[in-house]
Amino acid sequence: MLKDTLAARLGKIAQAGLLRCRRVLESPQGPTVRLADRTLLNFCSNDYLSLAAHPRVVEALRRGAERWGAGSGASHLVCGHTVAHHALEEELASFTGRERALLFSTGYMANLGVISALAGRGDAVYEDRLNHASLLDGGLLSGTRFQRYAHADVSALNEKLAEHRGGQALIVTDGVFSMDGDLAPLGPLAAAARERGAWLMVDDAHGFGVLGKHGGGSAEYFGLGSKDIPVLVGTLGKALGAFGAFVAGDGELIDYLIQKARSYIYTTALPPAVAAATRESLRLLGEESWRRDRLHDLIHRFRAGAESLGIPLLPSVTPIQPILLGDNRRAVAAGEWLLQKGFWISAIRPPTVPEGTARLRLTLSAAHEDAHLDALLAALAECPELRP
Ligand SMILES: *Cc1c(COP(=O)(O)O)cnc(C)c1O
Repeated sequence: MLKDTLAARLGKIAQAGLLRCRRVLESPQGPTVRLADRTLLNFCSNDYLSLAAHPRVVEALRRGAERWGAGSGASHLVCGHTVAHHALEEELASFTGRERALLFSTGYMANLGVISALAGRGDAVYEDRLNHASLLDGGLLSGTRFQRYAHADVSALNEKLAEHRGGQALIVTDGVFSMDGDLAPLGPLAAAARERGAWLMVDDAHGFGVLGKHGGGSAEYFGLGSKDIPVLVGTLGKALGAFGAFVAGDGELIDYLIQKARSYIYTTALPPAVAAATRESLRLLGEESWRRDRLHDLIHRFRAGAESLGIPLLPSVTPIQPILLGDNRRAVAAGEWLLQKGFWISAIRPPTVPEGTARLRLTLSAAHEDAHLDALLAALAECPELRP
């Protein structure tokens, strides 16, 4: 029976220390959250700028619902594409300095749709080994010769590209690696792409809104434009605190995706009120640049504090600050211990990260107070799993 077979499989997952479970949140996102009738300090959200519950974003969502209702009613190509979606696309294009932008319902769907639209049989997709699951799945779905290169290793990529024969080559990378927090070497990757006639696609889910003077993301951080990164993906559910994703690039790219990206064509458009709320978030990126400054100040303070405690950090200038533990059970035990002390930090295990690299994935947000950070550092100093 299905039930028995699955129970046996679940038992194996649990034995390996890999069982995933959900915790039921009782409050909006914020530096403190409610869980099981307790107030916890939240160090695991991707709401880096603390915009998810910002009063102006919430108000824009409310007004959007009054104007547009709850659902969009159809896909973009049928009758679900509203003035709210269209205005957001135009603002995202202008914000990223690209000709056009195209909204997708989620980042996962954007990545599946873009990769499988741009590359097909006879082509080749080259991906960083640590790319997000949605990019790897997009590569598999494309049915191309799909190859992974060593993490952030441009010479390893160049060796593979040198053997590329026929068809189009598409290079795909995270801008900020979601479980490590480090940046892809976008300048050298763009140069490699240019030299070999390959196309470069960057998924900036964790850089967009956070990096660069204006929050333009890893492209702005490295001073790269649309010639260097012709296919730019950003998500709207992380630093922008809303929901959805977009692809930005030249008009031909967008027109082509509208014809060919199946995860764009065959799905219901985002609720227009969500597009309206996201427009307000985008405005706040410009008006409240102190959020980015505060976040980067916290990142520096956290790293300095952790280093003085001898806690090993990974090289990350982003709000993603993982603490590597290696063993799955140790990572889970550290997460549980911290939870008991009032700190919510997620333990990340394989297959999300490579075998033997289980970790605490700690994230910071602009709304964390100095006292929150001090309390966190004090707890990390005492955590038994983190003692050398
Ligand atoms: C979260 C994430 C996605 C998926 O975006 P959603 O909008 O949550 O589906 C894609 N790529 C990366 C690197 C991510 O971290």
